[in-house]
Amino acid sequence: MSVVGIIAAGGSGERLGAEMPKAFVVLAGRPLLDWSLSVLRDVADRVVVAVPPGSPQSSVLGPREIVDGGESRSASVRNAVLAAPEASVYVVHDAARPLITPDLVRRCLDALGPGVDGAIAAAPMTDTVKEAAPDGRVMHTLDRTSLWRIQTPQVFRAGILREALDRDPAALAAATDDASLVEEIGGTVHVVEAPLQNMKVTSESDLRVAEALLAGR
Ligand code: C5P
Repeated sequence: MSVVGIIAAGGSGERLGAEMPKAFVVLAGRPLLDWSLSVLRDVADRVVVAVPPGSPQSSVLGPREIVDGGESRSASVRNAVLAAPEASVYVVHDAARPLITPDLVRRCLDALGPGVDGAIAAAPMTDTVKEAAPDGRVMHTLDRTSLWRIQTPQVFRAGILREALDRDPAALAAATDDASLVEEIGGTVHVVEAPLQNMKVTSESDLRVAEALLAGR
């Protein structure tokens, strides 16, 4: 089995307000990207990182490890997947989640049993969830016992991920994760409970929280 780690690091990070792409913003002394890179290098045979075209390349990336990001997140993942055709399994991860652990990746890989095409990190819903109309009027309260907040890493059998990503740019841009594209073509995807710390860095305050969590490790 050839496991290829894919890191989506092609975003501009506008919401973070930094002068450089989010993946290169320094977090606890290292570029954000490096935290995920070292975990995926540990568990995968090869890692491919999609970065914004023309961005400063992290000196820690080798020439076989870097591809241009695309117009959307899934387009970036597609570019990286196409650059690693040798994979039998892809581990797709967002650079924006620096608190990924080798144990979480291994549990996703282990969940890829018979009849399972994808296994994705997720957190059970702890808030009450309601659906509201555009004017704010509450329409329904959903049953949260079967709801999950979906994260990365997301692990897939290679053939089905390649097929799922073979879509036009608009379909790729509409997808908020890769698992939804796999589900759309009939793939079976399972959730794997992630540690509470597997947060996503979106804003400046998230950077501070992530820094505190990394310091506490
Ligand atoms: O924008 P958002 O925070 O949802 O991005 C999630 C991940 O996708 C980030 O790690 C970001 O760098 C990556 N991304 C990408 N290519 C894009 C847009 C986002 O690889 N065109």
